[in-house]
Amino acid sequence: MNDQRTVTIIGAGIVGLCCARTLQRRGRSVTVIDHGEPGRGTSYGNAGILSAGSVLPEGHPGLWKRLPGLLLDRTGPLTFRPGYLPQMLPWLLRFMANTTPGRVEEISKALASIVLPGVQHYVDLLDDVPADQVPIRRQGCLYLYPRPRDVAAAEPDNAARKRRGVAVEILGPDEVRQLIPAIGPDMAGGALATQSGHATSPLALSQLLAAQIEAAGGVFVRARADGFTIGADGPSHVRTDQGDIAVEDVVIAAGAFSKPLAAALGNRVPLDTERGYHMMLPQPEIEVRVPMLISSLGFGVTPMSDGLRLAGTVEFGGLKAAPNYARADILLAHAKRLFPGLKDKGAERWMGHRPSMPDSLPVISRSSRFDRVFYAFGHGHLGLSLGAVTGRMIADLVQDRPSDIDATPFRASRF
Ligand SMILES: Cc1cc2nc3c(=O)[nH]c(=O)nc-3n(C[C@H](O)[C@H](O)[C@H](O)COP(=O)(O)OP(=O)(O)OC[C@H]3O[C@@H](n4cnc5c(N)ncnc54)[C@H](O)[C@@H]3O)c2cc1C
Repeated sequence: MNDQRTVTIIGAGIVGLCCARTLQRRGRSVTVIDHGEPGRGTSYGNAGILSAGSVLPEGHPGLWKRLPGLLLDRTGPLTFRPGYLPQMLPWLLRFMANTTPGRVEEISKALASIVLPGVQHYVDLLDDVPADQVPIRRQGCLYLYPRPRDVAAAEPDNAARKRRGVAVEILGPDEVRQLIPAIGPDMAGGALATQSGHATSPLALSQLLAAQIEAAGGVFVRARADGFTIGADGPSHVRTDQGDIAVEDVVIAAGAFSKPLAAALGNRVPLDTERGYHMMLPQPEIEVRVPMLISSLGFGVTPMSDGLRLAGTVEFGGLKAAPNYARADILLAHAKRLFPGLKDKGAERWMGHRPSMPDSLPVISRSSRFDRVFYAFGHGHLGLSLGAVTGRMIADLVQDRPSDIDATPFRASRF
């Protein structure tokens, strides 16, 4: 009986689409509600990295000592909209509480359980698509260290990665130069996370999933969800700007906008946003074969089918403030120093909202109040990497099947 209920997924980002497609492949009828086109939210503009090396939380012990310097550096990886600070304070306090060595260890274990199998879950989810039509490459991801002190600072992180089972090859400057010949003199070394991959177009990946869902009978509804009618046994309808839609099972996957929807369904979660920017360079005139992350500068550089993408930085500024594209310009300035031959003709700038939890762990969970309601949001810096594995975990929860991944660290009731 359970297996015949339609699942309504709110949000057609990479996470919602992966949930919908996985459930559909397991025989469920799915309806996906989004006021925008599939994959055009935050999932559109990310750095595209399917990062198997991201087993460490965003906060780490000792961060508080570096925080003032980070915030005062106007070209640095982190910035605040001052007006938003009071609103963000509770989230920031929770974030800092998660930087103790004990919490970092726990969070890191939980992250490893979902990050390491991340790429393989995409391969499984898309195994009915010819390989040359899947916009994913498995060439690893290079952590690039511009300065000698970055090499030293990365040692504990790389040791922690290895402890968690991440395959990392430490590279000297000559080896990095062989991999990325366009790199300039500002480079002291690197580390290649060989299990990582990247999307050559995050949008094409979402569109591929959406096309598959539609071809297999899934329904897309263009509407903005703004609440629920609650019946005797949970939500009976989702209220939208296009009218009420009857629902059976419900998955909330609305990215950074999930908080009020989850609150209406029984869980108050400390979801906020870390805004990020990209600069897309359609004619970079340099060749970069492998995606890279430059942690000290807070951004990634990824070869995509339509050019080279620089993407990253964190801006605490909430969901409503207009973009400050000077943040994207900073990425370009950094990249030009790293790659002296880089050209920016036709460059395009973009801003998006990472859905961020203060403990760097997503919410992949059943609602605390309603058995037929599920949450798949809060993936922060890792939503693309974790889309397919989240789809798998949500499908297990919806179908009440045992899962090979322990979902306890991701439950909504942990706050
Ligand atoms: C600059 C930057 C770089 C990044 N780089 C990477 C990276 O390299 N690798 C990685 O793994 N992750 C990366 N990320 C993070 C990743 O992009 C996000 O975690 C991921 O896109 C979140 O996906 P989502 O499906 O949860 O949200 P979204 O893509 O935002 O999708 C949510 C959808 O819900 C819809 N929606 C919202 N509210 C409603 C409503 N009320 N009713 C109906 N629909 C609604 C929206 O229209 C949207 O389509 C990056 C993020 C940024 C900003």
